[in-house]
Amino acid sequence: MKALPTASEQLSKIALSNQFSQDYVPPKFHYRVSSIPYCIRKPILRRSPDWVDLSMVEKQPDQWQAAHIGTMMHQALQGDISGSKHVVAIEPEIDLIFDVEIDDKKLDIHLVGHIDILSHIDNKLKVIDIKALKSSGLNYTPKQEHFLQLAVYQVAMQCDGELWYMARDTGEEMFYEQDLATAQSLMAMTIIPKVSIMAQAELREELPPIPLQHASKQGQFWECRYCEFSSFCFE
Ligand code: SF4
Repeated sequence: MKALPTASEQLSKIALSNQFSQDYVPPKFHYRVSSIPYCIRKPILRRSPDWVDLSMVEKQPDQWQAAHIGTMMHQALQGDISGSKHVVAIEPEIDLIFDVEIDDKKLDIHLVGHIDILSHIDNKLKVIDIKALKSSGLNYTPKQEHFLQLAVYQVAMQCDGELWYMARDTGEEMFYEQDLATAQSLMAMTIIPKVSIMAQAELREELPPIPLQHASKQGQFWECRYCEFSSFCFE
C-alpha cells in the first residue's frame, strides 16, 4: 500500500481538544465555521459581551429536535463508513488562523469547527460535509451557505471537498463537489471580508449591523424567527 503523502502532514494541523460542542461559545475573535455563512451579529451577541445590555433578551425554545435528528443522521452515516479504508478521520477539529489588520492593529482570527469526514482516495485528501434534509431532496438546490462552510474546511486542509445531502425520510443522497481553487476564492472574496466585519465590531466594542435581508423583513427573516435575540434586535 502506498504511503499517505500528505495526510499526516495535514492532520498535524488538527487541534485535538474537544471543545467545539454544540454549546461551546468561542472566545473573542474566534468564530465557529458553522456560523460564518449566517448572521454576523448573532455570534457576537452569543458571547454576551459586557458592552451590550442583554438583560431583556427572552430565551426562545431552541431547535433541539431538528438539530438532534440531524446530529443522529451524521453519527449514523459516520458510524457506517468509519471502518472504510478511505476514511482518515471522523469529526477532526480545525482551528484555521489568519491575520487581518484593523485600526492599525494586527489581529489573529480563528475559524474553529469540525469536519464531518476527512477521506483519502486516490492519494488525495478530501473533506466531506454532511447535511441532513427534512424530506426527499430530489428537488433540493444546494445552498451557497453550505459551500461557504465547506470552503473553510477545504482551505484548512488544502484539499477538494464534497457536500453530501441526505433526506431524513427516504435516506436519498446527493453529492456536490467543490475544488480547492473555488474554496480559496470564496475564502478571499466572501469569508474573510465577512469575518473581518465581525472582528472589527468586536475590537471597537460595537455590534455589527443587522444584515440587510434581516432588516428588510423586520425580524421575520427565517433566521431571526428562530433567534433568541429577535426581541433585542427588533423591538
Ligand atoms: S434577530 Fe436576526 S439580526 Fe438579530 S442577531 Fe438574530 S438573526 Fe441576527
